[in-house]
Amino acid sequence: MPELPEVEVIKNIIKPFLKGKIINYSIIRTKKLRYIIPNDIFKIKNQKILNVKRRGRYIIIILFKNTIIIHLGMTGILSIINSNNNIFYHKHDHIDLVINNNFTLRYTDIRKFGFWLWEMKNYKKNIFLRKLGPEPLENKFNNSYLYNFTKKKNIYIKILLMDNKIVTGIGNIYSNESLFLSKISPFRISNTLNIKEVTVLTKNIKYILYKSIKHGGSTISNYRLPNNNTGNFSQYFFVYGRENELCKICKKKIIRKTQRNRSTFFCYKCQK
Ligand SMILES: [Zn+2]
Repeated sequence: MPELPEVEVIKNIIKPFLKGKIINYSIIRTKKLRYIIPNDIFKIKNQKILNVKRRGRYIIIILFKNTIIIHLGMTGILSIINSNNNIFYHKHDHIDLVINNNFTLRYTDIRKFGFWLWEMKNYKKNIFLRKLGPEPLENKFNNSYLYNFTKKKNIYIKILLMDNKIVTGIGNIYSNESLFLSKISPFRISNTLNIKEVTVLTKNIKYILYKSIKHGGSTISNYRLPNNNTGNFSQYFFVYGRENELCKICKKKIIRKTQRNRSTFFCYKCQK
């Protein structure tokens, strides 16, 4: 599943092909992804793209009056293809937005857990976006902001980091990695963390996300970038996906356990 860094990298790649251009029309080959594709996206014609943004794991295509909101789900892929190649498609190529610059934004999704929404009002008030907490890379997300939540909550710190209402888009990979870098066990109850630990954790969350974006994100399973490249950040993982491999710091075996149905990877020795 693409997490924040991957979606940021995807947004940065597609944006120059879309911003300021016109969507001539759409080609929709599948009616339903996770949700039914809105009629307005079927009917879209000659609409200018004012901007392309990211919020959490959502890609936001801002039009003159409306907004398209895209979530890639588990296996959603956006690619930029030459419009002359629109006639060639596979059964998982569900949506094409044909742009007036001879390029097409194509959406491919094998498992169809992704979705496209059409928002007529301020997109920030969209039902999915309005409940999201601050972006982890923004200044609003800082040690005192996070400490305000950790000191009040009686839940595992990893579960807290993955709560999108508190901070959006850290996800499973980067919560595992940032806790390792901070030497904090994912099983620590959040209100046992002191401000010093929360300060280190906040710094490491930002560091790991920046570093991943710089490396094109982490490529796992079906994910690939719109330019057909792959991100290479996964080679820098300390714990994620490394069950039974040796800790890069202390050489003990990395342990995998489950927290709320998601895999947690950690080192008993390094993380307390
Ligand atoms: Zn270790």
